[in-house]
Formats: sequence, structure tokens, C-alpha cells
Amino acid sequence: MDKILEQLFSYIDSHTEKMIADLGRLIRIPSVMGEAEEGAPFGKYPAEALAEMLKICEESGLSVRNIDGYVGTADFYPTEKIPELGILSHMDVVPAGSGWSVPTFELTEKDGKLLGRGAIDDKGPAVAALYAVKAIKDSGVKLSKNLRLIFGTNEENGSADLAYYRKKERLPEMLFTPDGSYPVINTEKGMLRISYSAKLSDGIVSICGGSVVNAVPEYAEAVISGAKVDLNKYNFDGVTLSSETCGENIKITAKGKSAHASTPESGQNAVTALIAVIADVCGDSALSALSEMFPYGETDGYSAGIKCSDELSGGLTTVLSVIGAVDGVLEAKQDIRFPAGKTSGEILALLKERSDRAGLEMRADMISEPHHVPEDSEFVRKLLSVYELVTGENGYCVAIGGGTYVHDTEGGVAFGAEFPGDENNMHGADEFITRESLVKNAKIFAAAIYTLCK
Ligand SMILES: [Zn+2]
Repeated sequence: MDKILEQLFSYIDSHTEKMIADLGRLIRIPSVMGEAEEGAPFGKYPAEALAEMLKICEESGLSVRNIDGYVGTADFYPTEKIPELGILSHMDVVPAGSGWSVPTFELTEKDGKLLGRGAIDDKGPAVAALYAVKAIKDSGVKLSKNLRLIFGTNEENGSADLAYYRKKERLPEMLFTPDGSYPVINTEKGMLRISYSAKLSDGIVSICGGSVVNAVPEYAEAVISGAKVDLNKYNFDGVTLSSETCGENIKITAKGKSAHASTPESGQNAVTALIAVIADVCGDSALSALSEMFPYGETDGYSAGIKCSDELSGGLTTVLSVIGAVDGVLEAKQDIRFPAGKTSGEILALLKERSDRAGLEMRADMISEPHHVPEDSEFVRKLLSVYELVTGENGYCVAIGGGTYVHDTEGGVAFGAEFPGDENNMHGADEFITRESLVKNAKIFAAAIYTLCK
């Protein structure tokens, strides 16, 4: 191996305790989104975590800037030299939730695991990136290109931090975020959120199901009047149906299994099962049309007329995820992840045609085009070769249905910090990164920076 890389890796090995101590300084700040304050657009604590990170960077000899509490930057060279490489991480975290066996906002080390909210998402990777830069700086290695660490504060709630930054200045041409997984995520499907509305017939007293548009709904219920119900005639594998009499009315419930909308085939959709039942029992035309477009068990959009796939990113997936009714008008919401080779316009045109035919009024609530960086670009090839060099594993590109932090950037990819097959309880109780993985990440980033900027 290159002598310089050996030197950088041994620096990281001998500074691991300090790196973990700095991670502890960040985990201690409960940087969950809160009420906006002066200089703290996403609440007090995300801004405080950003300020702490910039302090650590300044102590490490980097040139830091705080951009109005939205984003912070730390540059390798204190000059006006425009950074050509950017490493993007974030200081905000998701709420604590319940079920922790150790304090949520304190770093606890146990059996080689570093536990605490933000350990893997994304404070650990951010600190690993910083130590990669420190290794290069403190070893006196010269770079011909400048590089910038970029710390956001709103990744978990819509990435308004990055939108602000991009309005103010350009992102570096080479950009990666250790807020996804290895080897390299270069393709992210496009995303659409659609609403449908239609008038319901009188026999339906109420109907509701699902709580968020980006998940397979696990529960749905409806109250109907003036109809007889025999639930034994319906069979939806994985969904439990039940009914009870409420005075004059009958309440029907469906229980299935939740899953993320980017992998709907692993869930069991309570809403589509319930719609099929109620459409049949009540003979309601709006629900029948909806059920025809979204039959239970189908996640590829075939009956909605939008099924498609390509080699780059695989097949389209979709979930009818939320249903409700106000004043006799049905409202249903759908999440779609479409292949990178398509545009939102193509999918929307197909859907419009199909829903017009079904008598449903359709509206697009959110449109996000696919994101793709060519696998054979020099940047991606170099990242993959660094991954192979440090881990000894095979490097390859990955396509996903979800969107990462770099979804709306030009040319950005996700690189780390999860290794294939890793467990880390991200977003859950007892979130952790292993000591080994933290160190390996720092080494990969050091090798990446050196390779891309030398
Ligand atoms: Zn994250």
C-alpha cells in the first residue's frame, strides 16, 4: 500500500479515543428539530450541535463558517481556493422514541458498540470524515485541491438546509454523503405523491386508514350502514378483517403489516384490503374504481397503468397508503417510486389517463425526479477503488427506491457509512456504530480524500 495511506491509517488508529470523545460531545446535544429561533432555523439544538461541530473543526485547524444556522462548512485550506470535493453530513437527529437500554443522548460503549442517538445517522460518520481530514492535515500531507466538510441541520425533515445553501453558493463538483451505505449509491428512483378524490355513496358513514404517505398502512377501518357483511368470503393473505355492530351501523377493521414505501412488497396493505371489502359490500363506485386501480397485494402499479422498469434501477413500486373522507368526499394518497430512466411527466400522464377513466380526480402533491450519476464517471470509479482497497471487498454501484441527502444535488453520491449487512438500529432504540466501523469509515474517507485531491 501507498506509504502515505499507511501513515494516515496509523494516525487514525492512534487517535481513535479522541475521535470517540468528540463523537460524545455531539451525541450529548439532543439535536431533534424544534421551533425556529433567531439563528436557529430548525430549533435550538440542531443549531447547537452545528456550533459544537464547527468548534471541533476549528480546534482541528480547519477554516469554518456558519451559514445562518442552516449549514456549517469547514475547509482544508483557509484560502479562497474553491473546494472541489465536498463531504456532506448532518447534525440533526430523529426523536428518541422509546425502548432504549442506555441513555439516548449520551455515548455509551458496550461490547465494541458506540451507542447513542446519531451514532450512525449521522454524527458518527461526520466525525469520521473530520478525522480523515485531520489525519491528512496533521501528517503534513499536501493536497493540490481544496476540500470542504459540509454539515447540515435539517436532513431528517426535508433538507431545507441544503436548499438554503444551494441558493447561496455552489456545491463542490465532487460530492459524497456518508449518510447512506457502501459501496456507492449512484441511482435513486424518482418519487411522486398523488391524491385522489371522489364522492362517496351515503351508506359509508366513515372510512380512514394509514397515517403517513410513505409507508404501507397497517390499519384501516370503515363504518357503514344499511348493509349485511359476511367477512368469511374475503381472503387477503396477511390481513386480518373483523367487524362489530355499533348501534345501527357496522364497523369493519383491517389489520396488516407496515413497511417502508420504497420496499412495499414486504408489507401487507390494510387500506387496499379494506377498500376491496367496502366497495363490494356497499357497491360504492368511487371505492370500486380505486380498488380496481389498486388491488390488494399489487405493488408494481400494473392496474393503475404505470408498471415499468429499467436495468438502471429496477421496477416501479407504489403504495396506496392513506385514506379518509370529509363531508362525504373520499381522499386517498399514493406513493410512487419510479425508475431512473423515466420522468415524472411520463408517469403522471399515464396516471391521469387511467384515473380520468375511473372517474377519480387526481392531483400531484409532490414531484421528485430520479437522481443518477454514471457508474463509469472518474469520481465514482475512484470511490469504488478506494472502498476495495481499504475493505478488501468487491466495489459496486447500488440503486435504491428511497432518496438520500444528495438526491437534489448535481453529481452527488452516497458513500457509506453503513457496510453491506451491517446492523445499527438506525432511527430506532439503541442506535449504534461499532468502534471498528467508525475507524474503517475514517480510513476510507482519508483514502478517498487523498486519492481525489492529491
Ligand atoms: Zn441521515
